[in-house]
Amino acid sequence: MIKFNKVLENIKTYEAGKPIELVVREFGIAPEDVVKLASNENPIGTNPAVAEVIKENADKAHLYPDDSMFELKAALSSKFDVEDENIIIGAGSDQVLEFISRAVLDEDASVLMSAVTFAMYEIYAKQMGAKVIHTASYEHKYDEFMEAFRLHQPKIVYICTPNNPTGDATSKEEVLSMIRAMHKDAIIVVDGAYMEYAAAKDAKYAITPKDLLGFENVIYLGTFSKAYGLGGMRVGYGIAQAGLIKELYKMRPPFNITTLSLAAAIEACKDESFVEESIALHQEQIKRYESFAQEHEFEYIESYTNFITYLFDEKLDSTQIADTLLKRGVIIRNLASYGLNAIRITIGTAKQNDVFFKHFSEVIA
Ligand SMILES: *Cc1c(COP(=O)(O)O)cnc(C)c1O
Repeated sequence: MIKFNKVLENIKTYEAGKPIELVVREFGIAPEDVVKLASNENPIGTNPAVAEVIKENADKAHLYPDDSMFELKAALSSKFDVEDENIIIGAGSDQVLEFISRAVLDEDASVLMSAVTFAMYEIYAKQMGAKVIHTASYEHKYDEFMEAFRLHQPKIVYICTPNNPTGDATSKEEVLSMIRAMHKDAIIVVDGAYMEYAAAKDAKYAITPKDLLGFENVIYLGTFSKAYGLGGMRVGYGIAQAGLIKELYKMRPPFNITTLSLAAAIEACKDESFVEESIALHQEQIKRYESFAQEHEFEYIESYTNFITYLFDEKLDSTQIADTLLKRGVIIRNLASYGLNAIRITIGTAKQNDVFFKHFSEVIA
């Protein structure tokens, strides 16, 4: 009998959004009829300029990528007005989360996060045998965080703003006051995976890496997977003071980003118009989701992200709704496993949203 590490007993495998292929296989629906609004991917697709660069680099597959990631760091440092030494690149910001967890956690440590937030924070903590503390609310409430902080003295505090899977955000002022009130022994992670959407919606919620660089114990995380439309390329970054980045580098495997991913992210940085276009489409389409909820009289959480969370009362059951939609080829996220009778829908293109509303109206009728 293999004896696995005891910590594994406590870990639930991360449940990714269901892939289109699965719905095609299981329900016999043609791939072109499947609408996937489950993983917060960019519905516009891949930026054509980026796709071109990926093709151009196809014949470099035999070479290891530039492990210094010089060009990508240069692009990020000019974008955010920071130095190369402030940046670490990961295979998605997920990998940076893993570096952080491994750098400070052990079996005596605890980590602090809101009641409903990004599932990987908990998984990485548990891999290290650390204890996971959730506040009572899904929002990042100052008093709840401070009370739990004093009580548990966590080694890592996660502030996910805007928050996934709920979509709400915490203002910059609120985040800064939490950071100032917490002592410097804890790493505070500000996860801005959806920051582009929040910043475009309301400047009060816009946080840049530079805003946080004055704090030795704070790291800002960003990703190319959402607004930049590169989920399949796996590129994310952490930005912090050089001392913290230097320690995280000790956790990094060599060549952790592929040659194609590097080339794609560098190109993506050159074209902000793609992000602007994505956000414009999003802002127009999300209004339909808000109106739909108002017309049908159910609650939703005001969204600062590229998705929206519909909250149901006892008349509707999120698991049943998600399963029925799936059989009709519409993939969304059921939030029952987070303890919410709610679904999370990534805002799609106008056409995808048409399909969603058609099926959803029938399912809830
Ligand atoms: C999507 C997401 C990430 C990271 O995604 P990567 O694809 O690994 O860069 C991190 N945090 C949150 C909250 C996310 O939703």
